[in-house]
Amino acid sequence: MKQIFFTPGPSQLYPTVGNHLHQALKSNIPSISHRSSYFVTMIEELSKDLKKFLRIPDNYEIVFLSSGTESMERVIQGCVEQTSFHFTAGAFGKKFLEISQELGKTAVEYEIDISKDLDDVDIPETTELVCITQNETSTGWSYPINKITRLRNNNPNILIAVDIVSSVPYVNLDYKSIDCAFFSVQKGFGLPAGLGILILSPKAIKKAYSLKEKGISIGSYHNFIHLVEGIKKGQTPETPNVLDIYLLHQILKDMLNKGIDKIRKETEEKSSLLYDFFESSSCFEPFVCNKSYQSKTVIVIRGYNTRAIVRHLGNRGFIIGEGYGENATNSFRIANFPSQTIALTENLISELNDYCKNYK
Ligand SMILES: *Cc1c(COP(=O)(O)O)cnc(C)c1O
Repeated sequence: MKQIFFTPGPSQLYPTVGNHLHQALKSNIPSISHRSSYFVTMIEELSKDLKKFLRIPDNYEIVFLSSGTESMERVIQGCVEQTSFHFTAGAFGKKFLEISQELGKTAVEYEIDISKDLDDVDIPETTELVCITQNETSTGWSYPINKITRLRNNNPNILIAVDIVSSVPYVNLDYKSIDCAFFSVQKGFGLPAGLGILILSPKAIKKAYSLKEKGISIGSYHNFIHLVEGIKKGQTPETPNVLDIYLLHQILKDMLNKGIDKIRKETEEKSSLLYDFFESSSCFEPFVCNKSYQSKTVIVIRGYNTRAIVRHLGNRGFIIGEGYGENATNSFRIANFPSQTIALTENLISELNDYCKNYK
């Protein structure tokens, strides 16, 4: 049976991945040296294309890591001597917090009540870095972009790091108002897992240099300084995931051809289809009720015995995500990435509708 993945990562591959993979093998990409001029040119072009696609300022650096989780650790090491401040609305925000604690920092938590509005929060003066999970994949709560800009304007001297793992490329972040943003490629870009991308402002890089000067550990081979000084020469500190880097470059070119505005518009169209269905259904309700905070890219739905729903749909070829962590049995999750087309989303809704009619 054909399976369609609506899981929030890894997820359905972007439709052109198969062809690019085939081409990569024909061109011996997995055997090419990461010190070769081919690789240097490839990552220079990838950087340029990513900046163009996501509208990232030219003076920001893009470096390669292995995952979203790794980015959390690198960001804390590179930007924090003592104190980080974390907005948490679920398990991924808490992970960021725990990583800071495990590195011996003072990590201050602001736990968001996802049933309420997020008002302005006073950030303690000792804070060096504010960490935001822009799209909380475990609960489907999303941090409004205009509130990130506001936070920057109210706290111009504090660095801001944003986890955009499950909202890129949809999220329209104003990169000038943040210092670190990171994602991995197995979600919105529809690629095999094993590659993380970290975007750094000049201020974030400067902070790492100043920590190093003070004799504070900023990590080893993947610290900001090695990463940035390497990437300026088209180099990575280790042998990276060259195949995934190649595939990301190809998918970026495809997405640039399609255009980010079109991708964002389609994402909104599909998220409306899904939320409209769930809100009018008698079986389900969105986990986040306040519309201004509902994620457009990971739709989390509250329900009873949701594992049965996940199994039922799985038997019909529609693979959706179970609830995450403590919400494993009272919710399920549906990815709305560029790989999940409008037609596939409509098919999924019709399956859910049948389920609801028969099992009520
Ligand atoms: C998936 C996810 C991560 C972890 O990314 P990995 O690449 O699996 O390490 C971090 N944050 C969010 C919001 C995620 O959805």
